[in-house]
This record gives sequence, C-alpha cells and structure tokens, in this order.
Amino acid sequence: MFKDAIALEELMGDNIRNVIIIGSGPAGYTAGLYTARAMLEPLMFAGYMSGGQLMLTSDVENFPGYPKGIGGPEMMMELREQAERFGLEVQDRNVDRVDLSERPFKVYSEGEEYLTHAIIVSTGAESIWLGVEGEEEQKGRGISTCATCDGAFFKEQEVLVVGGGDSAMEEATFLTRFASKVTLVHRRDVFRASQVMYDRAANHEKIEIKTFRQVKKWLSDDSGLTGAVLEDPRDGSTEEIALSGAFIAIGHTPITGFLEGQLETDEEGYLIHRDHTMTNVSGVFAAGDVVDTRYKQAITAAGLGCQAAIDCERWLEENEH
Ligand SMILES: Cc1cc2nc3c(=O)[nH]c(=O)nc-3n(C[C@H](O)[C@H](O)[C@H](O)COP(=O)(O)OP(=O)(O)OC[C@H]3O[C@@H](n4cnc5c(N)ncnc54)[C@H](O)[C@@H]3O)c2cc1C
Repeated sequence: MFKDAIALEELMGDNIRNVIIIGSGPAGYTAGLYTARAMLEPLMFAGYMSGGQLMLTSDVENFPGYPKGIGGPEMMMELREQAERFGLEVQDRNVDRVDLSERPFKVYSEGEEYLTHAIIVSTGAESIWLGVEGEEEQKGRGISTCATCDGAFFKEQEVLVVGGGDSAMEEATFLTRFASKVTLVHRRDVFRASQVMYDRAANHEKIEIKTFRQVKKWLSDDSGLTGAVLEDPRDGSTEEIALSGAFIAIGHTPITGFLEGQLETDEEGYLIHRDHTMTNVSGVFAAGDVVDTRYKQAITAAGLGCQAAIDCERWLEENEH
C-alpha cells in the first residue's frame, strides 16, 4: 500500500503544481511575481474580473512608483506583465471549487482538475453597490466605494455618502477635508454606527445628515455625475439633489463562496490568518482584501501578496516539495 502511494505520487509528480494563485488583483499579481522569481512556476487563475477591482477605476494616485498617477486598468496590465516576465502562467478563468481535504490539493476550473501542493487565495472583497439606474456608467468615475482612494478628486465640490454604519461616518468625515459639502443619506433613522462616530459626523459643519432617504436614480451628463434623485421609503416621495461625487459605504462581501466553508472565516466571511499568512489549512495562504477588514488598499493588498508568497515558499521548502 505504502509503495503504491509512492508510485502514485511519482506518477502524478509532473502534474502537481507547486502553487496555484486564485485571483488577479494587486495581491495575486504580487504573489505571482514573488513565487515566479523564486522559481516555483506558479499558475494563476485570474477569475471573472481579470485585474481585480482597480479595473473599475480611472485614476490611481496613491500607489508608489507612479508620480503622475496611472489608470487602474493600465496599472494592472503592468503588474501582470511584470509577473509574467518571470514566468507566472495566467489562465483567465474562474475557479469553481477546491478540495482541501487531502494533499495534493485539488482546484477545479471549467470542468478540469488541477493538483497543487500549495494555494494562495487572493479573491478580494467586492464592494456592495446600490444597483440603481445610472450607476453602472459612473462606477469608478463620479461614484466610488472608497473615500481614501477617490476623495481628493472632489476638492471644493458637493458629494453624497450613502450608509448608516461606522464606515459611512468615517468616509463622510474624511471627505470634509476636500469637499465643500457632504450630504449623508440613510434609509432609516436608526444608525448602526457607534455613537462617537455618529456624533463626529453629525456635529461637523460641512456634513448634513438626511434620514429616510435612499438613492432612486443617479443623474449625469457628458461632464460626469450631476446629481441624484432621493426617495423617502415611507411614502415614495422624491427630491433631487445636485452633486459631483458620491460614495457608497454600505459594506463589502469577501469572495469565498467557491471555498464552500473549507477555510475558517470571521462572521462577515473574511478569511482568517492562523500562522502569519497561512489559513487554518496547512499549505493554503490568503492575501489581500479577502482577509483585510480594515485597510482595503492596492498597496496593502500587494504587501499581503508578498508576505503570502514568502510564507508559501518557506512552507514548500520545509515540507520538501
Ligand atoms: C472604484 C474603486 C476604486 C479604487 N481606487 C483605489 C485607489 O485609487 N487606490 C487604492 O489603493 N485602492 C483603490 N481601491 C481598492 C483596491 O482596488 C483594492 O483594495 C484592491 O484591488 C484589492 O486587491 P486584491 O488583490 O485583494 O483583490 P481584487 O483587486 O478585488 O481582485 C480579486 C481578484 O479575484 C478574482 N476572483 C474572484 N473570485 C475568483 C474565483 N472564483 N476564481 C478565480 N479568480 C477569482 C477576480 O477576478 C479578481 O481578479 C479601489 C476600489 C474600488 C472598487
């Protein structure tokens, strides 16, 4: 039996990858770059949104190395090119599921099975959008889900924040550094935000809080976002508001469904690191927004991608793969 197992391992040997990276945002490409330079011949599944969330944004001004700023898609193209130069193999496909119950691990994509000693999960956390009329065209332009990223584009302009939790209060307060006026709308009159965060926003001279208001429709013209139609959910009455920018702060959904509960998560679904960047399953690492409940920036995702790659490389060496 033991001999058979060794024979099987030898037979499969050539077909077992050292590491499969799932997801092609800044975390995935950085992990790809490091593992490729470590001669691990990594395979990446780039997923349904090759390049990740930055493909949705026009200008990135806070990633080091681009003094004039850079378009999100252009930057992601460069990260991919850099990793591919050292041998990262990229497949523009989704991973449908994984089997982590035994080694080598199994990764399934479009009906095909891939075997691997290690996995780096970098599938990100999707921002929750409102999904109302006029939103799609303005995503990453007039309408954002990240004030830290895009607030500075709205100097001396009027902006809207949607949400009732701590992040909505934080985004609204942060935006007062740039905007001439910040209107915060919430569909109820009860806030999830902590009292201290609510008070800070509510007492700020530049912030107006409107309760029982939800966005019914975004308004725009050739110049970009121009306003929104707000609706009172109690009676359906509407009002129009003029603005140049909007920030939706109603949360994120970490993308972990394809893992089918095989990795430990917190109550919001974010993966949990157990030993540096390793998850509760030995040999499976996680990087980027899928583990990050706090920062959610390209540079922090890239940093975690680097850490996961180094941890993975050491783990493979210690486990003699
Ligand atoms: C509109 C907008 C503007 C932003 N602007 C900035 C900015 O200016 N500066 C900044 O620092 N940050 C910005 N951010 C935040 C930044 O985009 C994220 O923090 C960063 O992209 C997270 O990187 P990540 O690698 O963890 O995941 P993501 O970039 O989210 O990438 C996740 C990847 O996983 C893949 N994937 C998901 N499921 C699967 C699957 N089943 N199989 C295979 N692949 C899968 C997707 O295809 C995608 O490639 C912005 C975000 C948004 C939404």
